[in-house]
Amino acid sequence: MDSQEFKHLGYEMIDWIADYLENGYQEGPVFPNVAPGNTLAQLPANPPQYPEPGSALFNDFKSIIVPGLTHWNDPRFFGYFPCNNSAPSVLAELLAAGVGVNTFSWITSPAATELEIRMMEWLGQMIGLEWKGVIQDTASSATLCALLSAREAMTGINFTGFAGQNQTLRVYVSDQTHSSVLKAGRVAGFGDANVVTLKTDASCTMNPQLLEDAFKADLAQGLTPCFVVATVGTTSSTAIDPVEAIAEICKRYGVWLHVDAALAGTAALLPEMRWLMTGVPQADSFLFNPHKWMFTNFDCCAYFCKDPLALKKAMALTPEYLKTQHDLAAENLRDWGLQLGRRFRALKLWFVIRSYGVEGLQQKIRLHLQMAKEFATLIGTHSHFHLIQEPVLNTVCFKLDTDALGEALLAAVNASGEAFLTHTRIEGCYVIRVSFGQTGAKVEDVARLWATLNRCL
Ligand code: PLP
Repeated sequence: MDSQEFKHLGYEMIDWIADYLENGYQEGPVFPNVAPGNTLAQLPANPPQYPEPGSALFNDFKSIIVPGLTHWNDPRFFGYFPCNNSAPSVLAELLAAGVGVNTFSWITSPAATELEIRMMEWLGQMIGLEWKGVIQDTASSATLCALLSAREAMTGINFTGFAGQNQTLRVYVSDQTHSSVLKAGRVAGFGDANVVTLKTDASCTMNPQLLEDAFKADLAQGLTPCFVVATVGTTSSTAIDPVEAIAEICKRYGVWLHVDAALAGTAALLPEMRWLMTGVPQADSFLFNPHKWMFTNFDCCAYFCKDPLALKKAMALTPEYLKTQHDLAAENLRDWGLQLGRRFRALKLWFVIRSYGVEGLQQKIRLHLQMAKEFATLIGTHSHFHLIQEPVLNTVCFKLDTDALGEALLAAVNASGEAFLTHTRIEGCYVIRVSFGQTGAKVEDVARLWATLNRCL
């Protein structure tokens, strides 16, 4: 592709993206009505031997790929959680791809490293947390970093290895904690058997008393409490664990507390929602995902730690070929995570935060919270819909008279292509979740979704 073709095609693609961002996928359903293998059948089995024109690539993108996508950024998408993007974020991603830098050391791109440091400071101010931080790809990776930091702080295992260990380390979660913690436990060598899952009640939150009881029971058996995860905004129902009470117990027992606010952290940008951060300063690590609800393209997880040295103790490793003369004066962000090669993610945060301003971001988040409340009110008016809880965040959970009716409604809505919803189970019941948070969301979307639900019932 020569420079002329690149420019021509680039302008055309930007036009296409601009329309997509403004209107969503108007040509078809928000959720593709395709069977497994449908896209595969349209792709040649072998790579092309000779160059193809850029126009062919773009046309095939539009005709083969786009109709097979689930349109996460369409205003009709209410599934899982938002994974929203925005024009400034897309442009920053384009520029980051254009300059194609790798940000593992300060010297591999000084401006990228320093922009990342400053963006984490900005994010910290925006949610009221004074810790230092780093951008990780996902919450899953950030949680693994937290667990490895806790493990290293307690054992020094990086040097001794497992063979030198004579203690069994334990992790504590609730039955609502995201599965990434269990996976981190496997990767870090704890094993499923050493992840203690505390049962929740109808509130879906961790019971601090059960946590302390579990510590005591484990200690009595010679097991070592090491790591607790509290969640602010659980995946199923956006429940909020009592972080302050959990932190107090963890502190008393010398156990690392990690707070996962992957979705809900963004809501703490609002002064009226800042209470979500209560207790977080007493924890040891914290994460939230701007790639979920802060208009920043996937991937971008903001990971904060009270003691960066604990993270670096677990992660830093400097072979000869990576040593530089600036190592004492500058941060090498590879020391703050698992990867060596790192994407230039700070640029999209810089563009998003400056383009909206904190106030602009707050207005959007407030709108999403208002939409959730309005939708919950509508649910309350229907005799066959039953609200699980008044929404505090952006997600509304409701059930129907029976599980079968709920399943049928969800299937009908998704097949209609007029909306996309997902489900969970709460206290054994099939529950439909509606998650608000699109960048281009409008209050009218609530009425449109309500009409779709009633049509599909
Ligand atoms: N933690 C919570 C509370 C989540 O809701 C999710 C995503 O659903 C995750 C962690 C995992 O996020 P990621 O995809 O960034 O690893």
